[in-house]
Amino acid sequence: MTASTPASYVLRGTAAGGTLRIVGMDATQVVEDARLRHHLSKTATAALGRTLTGSVLLATVLGKRSDSRVTVRVEGDGPVGFIVAEGSVDGRVRGYVRQPDADLPLRERDGKLDVSGIVGTQGELSVTRLLDNGEPYTGSAHLVSGEIAEDISTYLGVSEQIPNAVLLGVYEEGGRVAHAGGLLIQAMPGVTDETLGKLEANIRAMGQITDNLRRGGLMEAINRATDGLNVQLAAEAQASRFECRCSREKASDSLKFFDAAERQDMIAAGGQEIVCHWCGEHYQITPDEIAALDATDTHARA
Ligand SMILES: [Zn+2]
Repeated sequence: MTASTPASYVLRGTAAGGTLRIVGMDATQVVEDARLRHHLSKTATAALGRTLTGSVLLATVLGKRSDSRVTVRVEGDGPVGFIVAEGSVDGRVRGYVRQPDADLPLRERDGKLDVSGIVGTQGELSVTRLLDNGEPYTGSAHLVSGEIAEDISTYLGVSEQIPNAVLLGVYEEGGRVAHAGGLLIQAMPGVTDETLGKLEANIRAMGQITDNLRRGGLMEAINRATDGLNVQLAAEAQASRFECRCSREKASDSLKFFDAAERQDMIAAGGQEIVCHWCGEHYQITPDEIAALDATDTHARA
């Protein structure tokens, strides 16, 4: 995390008299943080960054409670392997990729990062969330392009029956994330064909979302997408940050899944390192802490 990167945030609003719902995210710091934590290649930064942003936008649209979260899993046939991101309505987000060093040259046809190249175009995008009754629900859709935004949009349309438009982008400059963000626009009941036509024309005219973010930040992207549609944003922005739910205690507890003989080996080796795959945090679990696990285990059985 660099001090000069502005904090990430989510804006919500409506347009066209409430028949469009808008969620926008400036994800620059979240994605830069992810890049640093996971030592991501340039293209993997874009792929994970778009998925992280998309997971927060999806949580905001699908979540019923202020702490609702969704897990997005992108499993394509490209060299990055898979991408996982968990986003919450409260702005907390975390995620990782299978192969952080997977990378490809810029695409020849347009000079852009080859996100679909490292993600792959064959595969699935799945979204897991908790329903009102507390049961987990997973829906999925085939990948459309491997560019993430189109894949999330298709998932929302096909699996959740939510008409929508999704724009996601990550722009890197000088070896770091300079701009990242996204927009999710949901068509609500009662939307007119005229509004949808205008929205589509706006989105076609605005070009790449990263160009808009570079020109004038998230507000530029929102204003261009909703030009002439009377957008009204909520006054309060929701702060967003890369934050994991791991802890030293959880890391240490995970060693309970090994048997006592294996834990003795860890103690003899001077301790055990646990790396959280979600955030890249390293935990050095000491021999004393491992021995304490056996003590509590025995106590529990007694
Ligand atoms: Zn973690």
